[in-house]
Amino acid sequence: MEDITIDTPFSLTGKLALITGGGTGIGLAIAHCMVQAGARVVITGRREPPLQEAVAELNQTGEHAFYLTNDVTDLGGLEALVETIEATHGPIHILVNNAGINMKKPALEVSDDDFNRIIQTNLNAVFALTRTCARRMVERQSGSIIMISSMAAYYGIDRVAAYGASKSAVEGMVKILASEWSGKNVRVNAIAPGFIETAMSRTAFNSDPDRRDRAMRRTPMAKFGKPADIGYAAVFLASEAARYITGASLPVDGGNSIGF
Ligand code: NDP
Repeated sequence: MEDITIDTPFSLTGKLALITGGGTGIGLAIAHCMVQAGARVVITGRREPPLQEAVAELNQTGEHAFYLTNDVTDLGGLEALVETIEATHGPIHILVNNAGINMKKPALEVSDDDFNRIIQTNLNAVFALTRTCARRMVERQSGSIIMISSMAAYYGIDRVAAYGASKSAVEGMVKILASEWSGKNVRVNAIAPGFIETAMSRTAFNSDPDRRDRAMRRTPMAKFGKPADIGYAAVFLASEAARYITGASLPVDGGNSIGF
């Protein structure tokens, strides 16, 4: 039997992670967890101030984190983004497609522009950046790609037609990409968060106070998740501990996925 040790397989020492939307909420917590696991991280987002603050926080114990302002919906700029990161910091081992936007509107009020904006951010950009990073990962025969999906991919949650469609498509893509790159040691997985306390969920709950109560009733563990709950799962999926896991979607949702 091979030697089994618990510490080492969960370590991300020597790895570089690119985390989109890493300046706030879930992305920032993923960055903190990955840095604690030994990784260096590059975080991106459209606004500079949250990224600057995040990097200052992450670098309190050394130079672990870097940021670049970037809009993932500018698909033509993604090749240059990845090239710049790799030229400056070395190969990207881990890609976390976390940047995402939501919009709560009854389906009959969703315009084509609304729909396209969500799909461009949550789906088209995810594919384009994944393809850009995976070209290099496949060549190097090493990589772990994590998509931040949502339980809206699985359930009929009202007023999120575009968002749910984008996340369902990402879940489908995970299986196909995992299959295509399975022989190249590039793993592709998703995390499907339940209700996690961040700016995004606070905006949704503030615009509809009943929604918070309904969400709580649908959560068997009777509490909302913390961003770090997603960070811990991301460390696991990125690490050698998950070396035999690809094409999976891991619900981190206090039991929402048990059923409504
Ligand atoms: P936040 O709004 O805090 O984070 C979203 C991040 O994405 C921000 O840092 C934002 O930065 C960045 N972002 C948005 N659009 C773009 C863009 N075009 N280019 C680059 N960066 C962008 O929300 P959460 O942390 O809650 O969400 C993170 C992910 O988790 C999303 O994919 C979301 O769908 C998913 N999720 C969240 C749940 C929750 O309950 N909170 C539940 C299920 C899934 P900036 O605005 O500066 O660009």
